[in-house]
Amino acid sequence: MKIRCSLCGTEQEISKIHKDYQRLARDPEAVYICRNCSHRVQFQAKEAQKPQKPM
Ligand SMILES: [Zn+2]
Repeated sequence: MKIRCSLCGTEQEISKIHKDYQRLARDPEAVYICRNCSHRVQFQAKEAQKPQKPM
């Protein structure tokens, strides 16, 4: 099944064993975020949660 990342628009082919396959197969409008973007989002979320370091 071909899916497109909602963030960067990269098309990817996923197989039935992919963890999001069932969800995406049921709902074509479901948001899919590729591995690259999910890493980036997690990194940014972590950075945002970091308290400012005192100088
Ligand atoms: Zn992406």
